[in-house]
Amino acid sequence: MIVCNRCGASNNDGELLCLGCGHKLQSGRGGPFRDDGACRGPLEPMETPVPSLALRRFLLKGLEAWAYALALAGVGTYAALTGSWLLLLPAVGLMALLAWTRKV
Ligand SMILES: [Zn+2]
Repeated sequence: MIVCNRCGASNNDGELLCLGCGHKLQSGRGGPFRDDGACRGPLEPMETPVPSLALRRFLLKGLEAWAYALALAGVGTYAALTGSWLLLLPAVGLMALLAWTRKV
């Protein structure tokens, strides 16, 4: 027996349309889609761009860290060549501050 979900009338098994109102009956053996288009079958895992985005963010952070390190190395080389080590101190401080605020 199939009960119509629109008017509540009882219909025989195998009936496709409700005898009371003519609404299409759902026996549960039909296709995977309901009338409203919702899928009855197991849900497909949604493909999210999160992993690639996280990877890109990670790579960008790594690139940024390398940029800081190279800049610091440049300043260090300059300081070593010119002997003005005083320049290294604010540079290190600036890099540390940048790395800390940017959370590299
Ligand atoms: Zn009905």
